[in-house]
Amino acid sequence: MPVKKTEVNVGWKWHDSYGELPELFYTRQTPVPVRAPELFVLNESYAAALGLGPDALRSEEAVQTLAGNEVPAGTSPLAQAYAGHQFGHFNRLGDGRALLLGEHMTPAGQRLDIQLKGSGRTPYSRGGDGRAALGPMLREYIISEAMYGLGIPTTRSLAVVTTGEMILREQELPGAILTRVAASHIRVGTFQYAAAWGSVEDLRALADYTWLRHYSDVLLAEGQSRYLALLLEVIRRQAALIAQWQLVGFIHGVMNTDNMTLSGETIDYGPCAFMDQFDPATVYSSIDQQGRYAYGNQPDIALWNLARLAEALLPLLHEDEEAAIRIAQEALAEFPDLYQAHWLRGMRAKLGLFTPALASETADVGGQQSATEKGNEGNKRTEPRSDGHNHDEHKDADEQLIFDLLQLMHQHRADYTNTFRLLTLEQPVEPTLAETAEYVSWYTRWQSRLAMQQQTREQSLELMRSSNPAVIPRNHRVEEALVAAMKGDHGVMERLLDVLAKPFAYSTAQEEYSAGPPDSMCNYRTFCGT
Ligand code: AMP
Ligand code: MG
Repeated sequence: MPVKKTEVNVGWKWHDSYGELPELFYTRQTPVPVRAPELFVLNESYAAALGLGPDALRSEEAVQTLAGNEVPAGTSPLAQAYAGHQFGHFNRLGDGRALLLGEHMTPAGQRLDIQLKGSGRTPYSRGGDGRAALGPMLREYIISEAMYGLGIPTTRSLAVVTTGEMILREQELPGAILTRVAASHIRVGTFQYAAAWGSVEDLRALADYTWLRHYSDVLLAEGQSRYLALLLEVIRRQAALIAQWQLVGFIHGVMNTDNMTLSGETIDYGPCAFMDQFDPATVYSSIDQQGRYAYGNQPDIALWNLARLAEALLPLLHEDEEAAIRIAQEALAEFPDLYQAHWLRGMRAKLGLFTPALASETADVGGQQSATEKGNEGNKRTEPRSDGHNHDEHKDADEQLIFDLLQLMHQHRADYTNTFRLLTLEQPVEPTLAETAEYVSWYTRWQSRLAMQQQTREQSLELMRSSNPAVIPRNHRVEEALVAAMKGDHGVMERLLDVLAKPFAYSTAQEEYSAGPPDSMCNYRTFCGT
């Protein structure tokens, strides 16, 4: 069906750089119109930051564009092709229910993908209907915005519109379309697709494009190839990202290679959830029967996915395959130490412990700090400051201190977020944990470690406050907000979004959101959202 171009002045500054890639990588496609679109939620503050007029976005014409009934002037939407290892199995995929409207240039000069998710069938839909249900789209909206609030690199959510159509899943559900904003939608799976079905020149075009889009300000070491630098930068950003997930107890749930970005942003909030009681084996997703994507497995899975990226890049790393493999292996070997360093720094901060700035961090190591910080365009947390020493003399003891606390939390089924929150507030932790002799002795050890630092107690507490969220999007709260919103009461969701926007505020409004799940929610399962 032909789609009318719309002229409303929302403030979009459209670009189409992805469309300059070889045609292998996409198919031009217009959204499939829907019956009766209505704006369900609009992220006004984000719209303003993007240079868009919130009022204009609420207009009838703009809502038609967010629903895919009209195509904004200056755009030529496309569905991206990609592949992916889904639970370990390689498949040819692509945007089966999403379209890239185009890239919007923000007032700050950032190029961002504007994607409609749930916009109808495409050549990549396989058996699917190309649609999305309201509940899962609102869930993505809430959790991605919560991740942003936590300062974790993530795609953002601009709006959700309902379609006025029902879609069939296990039952009939109201349909919806999410407007998702991302640094890009280039995935590990995009590179796998190029390697499997493209020429080396196609692969090179994708790698060059990705480099220019995300890493053009990274300085190459003398004689270093851009493609090795690309692989290393992605490894660095992902090491930083996964450490941040672990630190807040975020479980992605479906870490397939098509759900891992080259930009280092978290993407695809399907069956994700935040952990309540600390247990590395935690899985929420109903489809993850084997626990492949359990909380404790996420770092290993990230490395596995990065190895798939490295494999795809082999022809660009060296003309001799064995040499290319050696180069790739050396790059991948950086991941565990990088991840561990981010994790340790973050875990120490959660306990008010400062990490010394090491000479190796400021010198070479490929600019680890700057690369990861650049990747994080979200709210900045207070960075742990240096204590002036140039030697990490407490590293082993601190790792043990952290490990022991986590093990006690696991044994005594303590709530992950609340344990750190209560330590931050200098309040007793849950009795199940607080009343054990092991915890009492751990606490004494921790206090003496704190006393060894040059920094004051107030400085430690400030570090803890900026590292331990007072509130996370707990499953029962998210569910409650979704149920109310779908009945027409948006207030519950708005209040939840409000407290999640500043998770380190420790405001009184946040207190009631800190309670763990009721017993009835302890076996909570998430579904894939398709
Ligand atoms: P996901 O599990 O959301 O990462 O999606 C995996 C693949 O399935 C992607 O290629 C999606 O585009 C596709 N897909 C998911 N849901 C649908 C749907 N309802 N219709 C068509 N394709 C879909
Ligand atoms: Mg996906």
